Amino acid sequence: MAVATDTFTEKTDEQKAITEMVRQFADNEIIPVAEEYDHEDKFPEPIVEQMKELGLFGVTIPEEYGGMGLDLTTYAMIVEELSRGWISISGVVNTHFIGSYLLMKYGTDEQKDYFLPKMATGEIRAAFSLSEPEVGSDVQGIKSTAKQNEDGDWEINGQKMWVTNGLLSGVVFVLVKTDPKSDPPYKGMTCFICEKEPGADKVPGLTIPPKIKKMGYKGVESTELVFDGFKVSEDRILGGPDGLGEGFRQMMDALEVGRVNVAARGVGVAQRAMELALRYSQERKTFGKPIAQHQAITFKLAEMGTRLEAARLLTLKAARMKDAGERSDLEAGMAKLFASEAAKENAEEALRIHGGYGYSKEYEIERIYRDAPLLLIGEGTSEIQKMVIGKKLLERNKV
Ligand SMILES: Cc1cc2nc3c(=O)[nH]c(=O)nc-3n(C[C@H](O)[C@H](O)[C@H](O)COP(=O)(O)OP(=O)(O)OC[C@H]3O[C@@H](n4cnc5c(N)ncnc54)[C@H](O)[C@@H]3O)c2cc1C
Repeated sequence: MAVATDTFTEKTDEQKAITEMVRQFADNEIIPVAEEYDHEDKFPEPIVEQMKELGLFGVTIPEEYGGMGLDLTTYAMIVEELSRGWISISGVVNTHFIGSYLLMKYGTDEQKDYFLPKMATGEIRAAFSLSEPEVGSDVQGIKSTAKQNEDGDWEINGQKMWVTNGLLSGVVFVLVKTDPKSDPPYKGMTCFICEKEPGADKVPGLTIPPKIKKMGYKGVESTELVFDGFKVSEDRILGGPDGLGEGFRQMMDALEVGRVNVAARGVGVAQRAMELALRYSQERKTFGKPIAQHQAITFKLAEMGTRLEAARLLTLKAARMKDAGERSDLEAGMAKLFASEAAKENAEEALRIHGGYGYSKEYEIERIYRDAPLLLIGEGTSEIQKMVIGKKLLERNKV
């Protein structure tokens, strides 16, 4: 007997309307200028201003704080569209989304009331900072510290690395050790909400060196943060005094939703690479016919399309499980692993399909090919995802 069920990709009317709006925004405002900003490694200020007007910095922030109050699934659909336009645009909202999540879930009422309305409008943007020059995957190995003064304030010292939106953000969620002797180390780690002036490269206790030069993911800045006695009051511990020693757990939770976010970025990149490959392969002719008609190329398109659909379904599944309040650590890891690899593979296949032109800066695929590998690294490398997935599979299937 046939049973009518919703397809897994079906969107609600609201989701259809908002993703269509963001797709048009990407087609009209992002794609035509992305190459220019990429080549100059310039921050896309006019695009970001328009994103503020569209409310895209407050997608998941509750309406009572001025946001749209939408779920993770809808957010992932929006991120896919932005990333399809240019991965760096989704990078501007990515760290902001993680900061909003940390505040919404762990912030005190005062912290939420103070930060969320300004974050919902994009008046201030958020960054998060775990990585250090010697530490990325092994987060418990960080060396930066915070010490409490006699007046009750805390002072942060240490060097942070790879902070996306490090310069232009107005607030950074920084993970440091407040009890360096703690064993296990994660119990002695705390997340501080550090306010700073956006764009200022030197404020008391904090220096921001010039942005790191990267192969791709340009336009959005990645910086170091050098803390030297940066003062933070006790009420800027995430969650207030009760948040002392809770930073690792809070950040790991945020990275789990962050993985769905990166997976959605992967789907957007894989989608755009697919579109470019489909178009070029039907226009370019060799041996008397469009290259799409050569079976070797048709097969590439078939694999790209299948990979793209699988990546999208994994991503939506992880997002929907999280929205339903179900445990989704395994699914988020799988989605991140698969979608980021799909983005890299689709980018490479699309580049091959473009032949010599794929290697030219005149063609969009050249940028996408340089942008895609970031997804294999940020928010946990593919190797780390496999560790997470394997561990969770074993936990859920004990004999
Ligand atoms: C453009 C960009 C933006 C970033 N933005 C941010 C940001 O906003 N905030 C932030 O905090 N960080 C950010 N990062 C840092 C990023 O999260 C780290 O680079 C990432 O976690 C990997 O850490 P690492 O570079 O120190 O590599 P390492 O941890 O040194 O790893 C090196 C290699 O060893 C592998 N490896 C490590 N441990 C194991 C293991 N146990 N088993 C098998 N293989 C292993 C890794 O997979 C990798 O291939 C960003 C990075 C980049 C490139």
